Amino acid sequence: MLDRLLNDYNQELNYDGIDGKRLAHRLYELSQIGSLSSGGVNRRGFSKEEKEAKALVTSWMTKAGLKVETDGAGNIFGRLVGKDNSQSVASGSHLDTVPAGGNFDGVLGVLAALELVEAWRTQDFTPEKSFEVVIFSDEEGARFSSGVFGSRAYTGLLTEEIMANVRDSDGLNLEEVLEQYGSNLNDFKNIKQRDWTFFAETHIEQGKLLEKHNLPVGIVSGIAGQSWLEIEFKGLAGHAGNTPMNDRQDALVAAGRFVSEIETLPSTVSDTAVATVGKLSVSPNGANVIPESVKLIVDIRDIHEDTRELLIDKIRKQAKQISDERGIEVFIERTSSVKPIPIDTVYKEELKSILKAMNIEPLELPSGAGHDSMNIGLEIPVAMIFARSVDGISHNPKEWTSLNDCVTTIHVLKQFMEKQMRK
Ligand SMILES: [Zn+2]
Repeated sequence: MLDRLLNDYNQELNYDGIDGKRLAHRLYELSQIGSLSSGGVNRRGFSKEEKEAKALVTSWMTKAGLKVETDGAGNIFGRLVGKDNSQSVASGSHLDTVPAGGNFDGVLGVLAALELVEAWRTQDFTPEKSFEVVIFSDEEGARFSSGVFGSRAYTGLLTEEIMANVRDSDGLNLEEVLEQYGSNLNDFKNIKQRDWTFFAETHIEQGKLLEKHNLPVGIVSGIAGQSWLEIEFKGLAGHAGNTPMNDRQDALVAAGRFVSEIETLPSTVSDTAVATVGKLSVSPNGANVIPESVKLIVDIRDIHEDTRELLIDKIRKQAKQISDERGIEVFIERTSSVKPIPIDTVYKEELKSILKAMNIEPLELPSGAGHDSMNIGLEIPVAMIFARSVDGISHNPKEWTSLNDCVTTIHVLKQFMEKQMRK
């Protein structure tokens, strides 16, 4: 990975205190934590691998002169004290991954924020306001099948009910997971928000738009809000040999029909809406047993709230209709819901002028993926900057963003954050 990063690196991008080689080494070091033989990584939220990655970045933060604090959700904040320390601006992302994830999703956003601090240090520059480098816990939601978990804890979006009911794949509840991790429920419930006035996140695009336009970096126009429906189809188990075909209540057949119907629904509400079933669990899951229960999660997103709600409604109705037709039961629960977040024109215009000055065509693109910025955007203004993803691949060991694109994106972030500090 390190060779591939450095091989085609354009040294001319090392200016303004930003150092591509340092970034490449850090990307590489993080890729070794939870590494898989496939080349990807597995750093589930609240796992020892996620914690190890945080510890490594924390050590870099400390070396760079940041004062590091952790909250009850394991979110980490490294503070660079500015001329005015009464408030701060912040930037960051996450270090956890999906199972068999890639080496740039989240990591780039954390290292980008830290690279700003390194650059300012080289330039002997003290920012006008304080600046915080942020690592949110369990962004991917792989721990509890519940996305952007750390930033939801931070913004107080986790209800008592969610906190009481979440279980990980080993059946551990929140309290048990936190204790294993080294935190506790009390600290988790009493997280104090920081003094940020603005938050920016750098992230890989996870799509092909920038690649299509041959652009290294782009401006996020708005962040789609993600909602999860947990659905269980419940039929009746039976012997695969002795139960006639016309006398079955097969939960998997119902679920299968439902999944194929889902593909047709998003385009009926908007051009930007999407819905996916990526996780199914079949019970009893035996080759010669008719499936009694299928639990699945539908991930539903749009950048407009009204159309997303309409889509959720249609999906619920579809699940009910299919289960009615097949004489089985269906249970539907909405387990997560994040508001879509528009990005303020002021920030988009500032980014446009930065990109123009760098001779990069300013392209605006929506973020279909959920990010911690969505939660932070409910409290304070946020902006996002995307770096080009090769072939649009993400959540996959093949995920790749060239070092040139990473560094170009960090240059954009640096100028942008300096602008925010002068406000
Ligand atoms: Zn991410």
